[in-house]
Formats: sequence, structure tokens, C-alpha cells
Amino acid sequence: MFRGVDPMTGQALSEYETLSDDHAQSEIAVAHAAFAEWAGRPVAERAETAHRIADEFEARSEEFAALMAREMGKIPAEGRGEISTVASIFRYYADAAADLLADQPLDIVGGAATIRRRPTGVILGVMPWNYPVYQVARFVAPNLVLGNTMLLKHASNCPETALAIVEVLAAAGVPAGVYRNLFISAAQVESVIAHPAVQGVSLTGSERAGRAVAEAAGRHLTKVVLELGGSDPLIVLDSEDVAETAADIVASRLSNAGQACNAPKRIIVLDELYDEMLSAVVSATRAHRAGDPAAASTTVAPLVSRAAAEEVAAQVRRAVDEGAELHTGGELVDSVSSLMSPAVLSGVLPGTAAYEEEIFGPVVVVYRAHDVDAAVRLANDTTFGLGSSVFSADRERARAVASRIDAGMSYVNQAGGSQADLPFGGIKRSGIGRELGPLGIDEFANLMTVRH
Ligand code: NDP
Repeated sequence: MFRGVDPMTGQALSEYETLSDDHAQSEIAVAHAAFAEWAGRPVAERAETAHRIADEFEARSEEFAALMAREMGKIPAEGRGEISTVASIFRYYADAAADLLADQPLDIVGGAATIRRRPTGVILGVMPWNYPVYQVARFVAPNLVLGNTMLLKHASNCPETALAIVEVLAAAGVPAGVYRNLFISAAQVESVIAHPAVQGVSLTGSERAGRAVAEAAGRHLTKVVLELGGSDPLIVLDSEDVAETAADIVASRLSNAGQACNAPKRIIVLDELYDEMLSAVVSATRAHRAGDPAAASTTVAPLVSRAAAEEVAAQVRRAVDEGAELHTGGELVDSVSSLMSPAVLSGVLPGTAAYEEEIFGPVVVVYRAHDVDAAVRLANDTTFGLGSSVFSADRERARAVASRIDAGMSYVNQAGGSQADLPFGGIKRSGIGRELGPLGIDEFANLMTVRH
């Protein structure tokens, strides 16, 4: 069952039955049948379609912001920001398509060769609810211009957003078979992966879902890309304006109610700055307001569901039970909604749950490090490896430290973020492969060697 639920009230918004197995298989056949014609079109034509998709998303920005506010509680301003990023992703791949897909000559011993980028077939996307349009755009834009056709299994709690995406693509002239939305359950995903026409699967979501999809992909020898969780470190080496640095870090951590894979989840501060920074982080967090996404005063949205809010509040309580100090927040705001007051924890000890787990909610965790080496050790003492940040007034100093962090991405003086032309992805348990930028289009391409 696909079911939208208002996170402010717990009321059901809409319900859709899942497809039967036979229906799901027939959808794969539709996408497969569309492949040859779509792959055979000139790249410029597919790029033109991507441009129209960008225009269409922008024209419907308000509508998507309202939809995401209803289905997962996103603050409309954040929703409009998401749609603007989505448009930029389609425009990036539209503009870069000809270069990214051009033949690549190779000088080889005894002759010459070319690497040719060709589409491979039908690709399945399994996508989450936290950025329900952006995550889909990261998957669709490169595959669309490459010439693949796509099946999309969206999260079961954002059906209206999933259907609105279908409308946008249709309005932009994407042939119906090129993108099929499948209302299938997680349990049905393997039967799609098993179909011989399906050449790849890309999942963004939890480690649990990632393992299940990777296992299924392994059984059927299907290429997989995974964007999973993170517990990104953000090291503060020094700061010329502690209050401003703290406010920026906190705003980034609390954005989307803290439900971002690459949010700065562990703030690591050097000894000499620690007390001042902790106090500034607590003040900055107290200045935020959890509330109805529609209210102008709200800066922290509700979590996606009451169950998610209860889980994050329980993680905070467990951290305190295991010796951490709670400086503010961490409470459910009422008995119905999924609002939680933003929290700050410090003194989280190695070996405790809060140290090891990802906290997918509005919780800032601050750590003390005695020197730079200790900060880097702490940053790397995790099974995750998605993003990381280093802040310093001395950019060179920050860059040198950034390169010592074991992560797929590293930002200097910037807390996370994502942009169309910048590859995105993790190492360790944060995932496999890359999305966005020039690398994102190669994941489901046949990088064909032609010896001539
Ligand atoms: P899930 O990983 O369960 O959901 C993401 C997508 O995967 C959904 O479409 C879901 O479908 C699908 N899925 C779930 N289980 C399976 C499975 N066994 N086989 C195939 N597909 C599956 O995310 P949750 O909503 O449960 O969030 C839980 C945690 O996941 C968060 O606390 C966070 O740690 C992480 N997460 C990370 C995200 C990221 O951006 N990297 C995004 C969202 C969550 P369905 O909805 O039908 O279950």
C-alpha cells in the first residue's frame, strides 16, 4: 500500500494499492519496448527533453513545495530550493550531454582505440522520501540523456509526489515507456531486478534497504549504485566569528528536520575553541523553532512520521543514559505530530549507540578533540564514509586536513550540500558508486571499448 500521511496530524492523505506481480512485469516490458527507440534518438534531442523537464519543474515549483509539505512535512521554502536544484540537475545534463557522451580516443600500444558511451537498457530506481524529487532527479537526468529507460519505485509514503513527477515528465514530452512509476512494495523489488531487461538498480535509502537490494542485484548479476546513510564529521579548526560559524553549522544540521544523509552529524571542535563553540551551537539551536511547515516562524520541520520522531527522541534519551550531556531539546513537542525540539548533545562516548549510529533527525552532536590528529582520528572512527567538512579561516590548512578524512566527499568551509556538476557519493557503509557530475552518467553506461 502506498499511503501519504500528514506528519502534523497523522491523518491519511491518500492511498494507492500496490501493483500485482503480473502488472509490475508488464510495466518492465513497456520500459523495455521503449528502449531501442529512445536510445536511437540523437543525444541533442534527449538533451532538449531534459531542458523542457527543467522548465516544467520550475513552473510547478509552488505545487511541489506544497505537496512535499503535506506528504513529508518539508518547509515550503526548502521545497522550492529542492525544485530549483532539481531544475539545475536536468539543465546540467542537458548542457553537458554532448561532451559527456562524446567518444573518447585512446592511444594504445600498436594502434588506436575509442571508449564509446552507450546506454544499456532498463534501469530501476528505488528512492526515499527525504528529498523525494531531488533523489529522483539525480537518477533520472543522467539516464534520460544517456538513453536508458527507467522504472521508479518511490518510497511508499510519498505517492502524490511520485505521481506529480510522472506528470512533469509527460508534459515535457518524455515518451510514456521511458519512465514508468511502479507502485510496488519493497518485497517486490527483487522480482524487478530479476527481469533480464533490467540492467541496473540505483537505491538511495537506509543501509538495511541497500543490503537487500545489493544482495538481490548480486544474485542476478545486476549493476548496483547505492547512496546510503552517513554520519558526516565537520571539523572546526578555528573561526574568526564563532557565532556565525555555529549558526551556519546548526542551520545546515537542522535543514530538512535533520533528515539528510550528508548533514554534518558530528561537529568536532579543537580544544582551544571547544567551550566557546559549544555554547554558540546551543544558542544557535535554541533560536530555531520546530513547528507547522506552513507557519512563517518555523525553521525546523516535523520529521517524516511520528514513528521516526519517537525513534530519534529515543536515540537522544539512550545517549543521555549512556553518559552524554543534553544541552537543549530532544523532546516530542506534542502527543500527535512528529515535531521534535532540536537537540544538542556533547560528551558522547566511543562504543555507545549515539557514537556508532546515524541520527536521522534534528540533533547536533558536538565532540572535543585535543589536536588536529585527534580530530582526524575521531572523524575517521566510523563505519560511514559519505561526506565531511573542515572549517578554518586558513583555507590551505583546512584543505590539508580535509584530504586526511576517509569519505567520498570533502568540503572546505561548507557544511555538506549538493550541486549538479559535483559528483556525490560515499565509501565504506555509505554506499557504492557516484551520482551527479561527469561521473554520474557513467554508472549505467556501457563504456564500450572499440579497437581500431
Ligand atoms: P528505507 O531505506 O526503508 O526506504 C528507502 C527506499 O527503499 C524506499 O523506496 C523503500 O520502500 C525501499 N526499501 C526499503 N526496504 C527495502 C528492501 N528490503 N528492498 C527493496 N527496497 C526497499 O528508508 P526509511 O524510510 O525506512 O528510513 C530509515 C533510515 O534510512 C533513516 O533513518 C536513514 O538512516 C536512512 N535514509 C537515508 C536516506 C538517504 O538519503 N541516504 C534517505 C532515507 C532514509 P518502502 O517505502 O516501500 O519501504
